Amino acid sequence: MVKRTLYECSHARVSDGRIRCDRGYPLSAKSDNGSLSVSRLARGDRLALEVCQGCPDFDSMGPSVPDEEKGWDHAKKTVRNPYGRRGKPHEQTAGKVV
Ligand code: SF4
Repeated sequence: MVKRTLYECSHARVSDGRIRCDRGYPLSAKSDNGSLSVSRLARGDRLALEVCQGCPDFDSMGPSVPDEEKGWDHAKKTVRNPYGRRGKPHEQTAGKVV
């Protein structure tokens, strides 16, 4: 069974580094206001919260987001130049940008 996630509900909002439900449902019992850290979104965590599974206010924005499209922390790592900011050694001596 496909689980609902925060990626699909239009009521999941991000502000001030936190993820909140604009319908007022607590997404976490660990924080005082029920919000989650946006770092979980950055990591591409699944975010299939129990509170969302039977929620009467779930408002789907479309089909499930594929796992490879979730998050951005891992995307930064894969596009980073393995040779650093100056490029490959032979590119530096050639004096041109490839
Ligand atoms: S499914 Fe319900 S609890 Fe989850 S984000 Fe949407 S409105 Fe909030």
